Amino acid sequence: MGVAEGAAGERGGGEVGCALAGGCHCGGVRFRLRAPRHLVVWSCNCSICRMKGNDHVVVPKLDFVLESPAALDELGLYQFGSRQALHYFCRTCGVCAFYQPRSNPDGWAVTYGCLDRDSLGGTTHEVQHFDGENWEASIEGSSIVGMSKVA
Ligand SMILES: [Zn+2]
Repeated sequence: MGVAEGAAGERGGGEVGCALAGGCHCGGVRFRLRAPRHLVVWSCNCSICRMKGNDHVVVPKLDFVLESPAALDELGLYQFGSRQALHYFCRTCGVCAFYQPRSNPDGWAVTYGCLDRDSLGGTTHEVQHFDGENWEASIEGSSIVGMSKVA
């Protein structure tokens, strides 16, 4: 179950790291994902993350499954600025439980606070800061880019 065992060929159906589940406040959005047991939680100070207090875990798209009830195209979508990030949110409760970050077009950013508490049992985490207020200067050299790469 160790994440270090995650050879590319195992990722299709095998268990890599741990299985987490989460969703929005009302339950209209539910998902599962695979993530390392030790989670890197990104705290960002860009204009929108600062407002939302957004701490998130970035995973490869392959490791994330949206289970519904709401399908992706039924969610609200907010874009601004470069319009590269896709800020999906539940149309009922307004919570952004996951989104596609500008930093990781091949990944999803999952809101740490939207992960089910019972699924976080056995995980540890560390908080890393991303200086999104100075995005262009920060993205190069930040390890956030690698978080969505399939190992
Ligand atoms: Zn909701």
